[in-house]
Amino acid sequence: MEQHIDNIDFSKKSREIRDIIRLSDFKRLQDLCLNLEDSIVFVLRGFENKYKELCLELSIEGKLSLICQRCSEKLEHTIFLKSGFLIKEETQLTDFEVDDYADYDLIEGSAKMDVLSLIEDEIILSLPVAPKHESDKCHYKKTDEMPDRIHPFADLKQKLYKN
Ligand SMILES: [Zn+2]
Repeated sequence: MEQHIDNIDFSKKSREIRDIIRLSDFKRLQDLCLNLEDSIVFVLRGFENKYKELCLELSIEGKLSLICQRCSEKLEHTIFLKSGFLIKEETQLTDFEVDDYADYDLIEGSAKMDVLSLIEDEIILSLPVAPKHESDKCHYKKTDEMPDRIHPFADLKQKLYKN
């Protein structure tokens, strides 16, 4: 797979890349995941929208093994992402109407856009900040918890009025 593309040329020619990437190829994502054998499938498609603007569409699917922040066990997380990008030269940004493109992120025109890095960014941004099992599926045991919170004033009344 070509890791770097000329994104302007890619869009103008309506090109497409689809491939499978192992998690071990994503340096930053590795820290957040348990199983480096996991992989994702992606499709990157270039096209011109109805305003003749250059766009990219990125779809990513896969399952990652995250780490539950409550029990530290494996947490299977399904990824199903679709992102749109509008390729803009910096000089054009001034007359840009954000509302027209709510579903699109801006991306700079580049002769060497890093495809892997773009995919990794999208996945990382989509991940929960503190992934957790649903409570009935979590391996976390209440008995492992710190002792019940101590309520220092629980018996205060009793003490005060003891006599
Ligand atoms: Zn858990």
